[in-house]
Amino acid sequence: MKRSPTDRFPLSLSLSHALSHRTRRGRRNLGLLATAVAVALTAFALSAPLRSPVRDLPYGQFRKRLAEGGVASARVGPTSIEGRLAPASPGAAPALYRVSRLGMEHDEDLIRLLEAHVPGGDYDAESAPSPAWAMALPTAMFLMMVAVLTLVVARSGGVGSPLAFGKGKARVYGADEARVTFESVAGHDEVVAELREVVDFLRTPGKFQSLGGRIPKGVLLVGAPGTGKTLLARAVAGEAGVPFFSLSGSDFVELFVGVGAARVRGLFARAQAKAPSLIFIDELDAIGKARGTGGSGGHDERDQTLNQLLVEMDGFDADRGVILLAATNRPETLDPALVRPGRFDRQVVVDRPDLVGREQILKVHSRVVPLADDLSLRQIAAMTPGFVGADLANLVNEAALLAARRGKDHVGRPEFEEGIERLIAGPEKRQRLLRPDEKARIAYHEAGHALVARSLPQTDPVHKVSIVGRGAAALGYTLYRPEDDRFLHTKTALENAICGLLGGTLAEEIALGEASDGCTSDLSRATEIASRMVLDFGMSPVLGRLRYGGDRDAARPGGPSAARGYSERTAREIDLEVRRIVDEAMAKARGILEARRDALDRLAARLIERETLNADDLDELLAD
Ligand code: ADP
Ligand code: ZN
Repeated sequence: MKRSPTDRFPLSLSLSHALSHRTRRGRRNLGLLATAVAVALTAFALSAPLRSPVRDLPYGQFRKRLAEGGVASARVGPTSIEGRLAPASPGAAPALYRVSRLGMEHDEDLIRLLEAHVPGGDYDAESAPSPAWAMALPTAMFLMMVAVLTLVVARSGGVGSPLAFGKGKARVYGADEARVTFESVAGHDEVVAELREVVDFLRTPGKFQSLGGRIPKGVLLVGAPGTGKTLLARAVAGEAGVPFFSLSGSDFVELFVGVGAARVRGLFARAQAKAPSLIFIDELDAIGKARGTGGSGGHDERDQTLNQLLVEMDGFDADRGVILLAATNRPETLDPALVRPGRFDRQVVVDRPDLVGREQILKVHSRVVPLADDLSLRQIAAMTPGFVGADLANLVNEAALLAARRGKDHVGRPEFEEGIERLIAGPEKRQRLLRPDEKARIAYHEAGHALVARSLPQTDPVHKVSIVGRGAAALGYTLYRPEDDRFLHTKTALENAICGLLGGTLAEEIALGEASDGCTSDLSRATEIASRMVLDFGMSPVLGRLRYGGDRDAARPGGPSAARGYSERTAREIDLEVRRIVDEAMAKARGILEARRDALDRLAARLIERETLNADDLDELLAD
């Protein structure tokens, strides 16, 4: 049977439907603000306790304690070191310390000691300040001149290698230092399972290939900030034992045209020299935004950088064992060229954690913290909907500091509660903590989709239902797993898909008295299916087995064939038919929801409690 590729209905893309956000941009700005507030709060929290119960240690003493394993964590700043001492006895409170040293030089030896003696690698080192202030200005001017010169050379087609630009910025972690494994990543079992394939490949590139495995070249991690994308990338490198080259998209965006492109070249050159290796580009959208979009000029630089990235991705030899991982929160803004086969053709969604996920993350981060016996991390997880991994890591830290300041030797529920209050002071976090009535509404909405889809034949099986927002776009979602990539859909399947899409709003209406505005994407999808049934698939008895509006697939956009090619009267009939199809689906979906009201309530209640349900949970809850 001849079929144009577009006849493959969008249905079988694993549809995640979305309660659309009204103010996406607003949220993003709020997000920035919240991050700033969170940073400020953390800084405050870290500095506040340093006033009293902090022990000032002389540097010599600190080194001695460190070598003896008496230091639990360390933050090495330009002029001071701060952190927690290991508790004197197993249940004792971890004491805070501070070592002041003006103009401390970057001490390789110190880093080695920290690596060897701080458990779990819980230390950071800021780069050392330049030896003297006076040096800074001349150095900056010198660098500027070099930059300009190189640029001139590069632009005039000269041979100067701008590789040096790539050197300064990338953070490189060797194969064995700062090793992170999947152990440190909690609550992302599905993602980890997918990334294991990448690990296998990096471990033995040759073997993988001889078995005919398709080598993944680029994997895109999609998820909100702080959900652990960087952590996952580092864990992949750590598990495979390969060097990890990491750069952020914003590092590429520079004032001078050509510098970003040179950095891309440099990064790939270095990674290939060390193959097998892993390259990680955070904030891919900063360079990967669709070309030719956005306001006034100045995009030349970004376009060049992006072009260079595409060239490198096509050019590098995947069998040498270089894999590219990138992270973004906005995959829809990426240039389509980036997500073509052979480039970032694999996307892995890194969700916000649900209740169980949050509990696991709390567990991972509180491994080194003495917890009170009566403390239930499950309860803490229940109090923190909307928190991502980074927030939870912060929370544990915060609670431990509070306990230390209070001279307690265990961290208990009061400290966690206070920590939560501090962390949600940011406006975005507070918004993310849904109001209970909204949570119930989203739960009924998603339960409605799931229940209707489950009750009808020929629908894609529901794989997961969640009221944990995914990315900026959705407050909740229902995921369907298309049955072995179905290519054709019967009339019944299409009608039932419409029923499922309408199930969300209808459930709100039935359970809560009225619908809300969180349904636009459902409605536009339902309408699209219904119109195509009438216009393209000849499924309306009134209009007959015709295709209306000509061959839209072949029509060039903006070309003359945009004309409809049918009469006003037919147009009206089409509208009525589309309306009839949707109305009939409404009635059918409503019937199901009313008949199975108990099941609807059960699903919604369980969703409110657990936040996500998988196929097994649904089986259990809908067993009647
Ligand atoms: P992203 O790259 O998605 O913005 P990160 O990987 O930088 O997020 O996460 C920041 C920190 O938050 C991590 O270093 C880790 O301490 C903590 N974190 C985030 N997600 C998780 C998780 N799933 N399990 C354990 N820790 C996590
Ligand atoms: Zn919906």
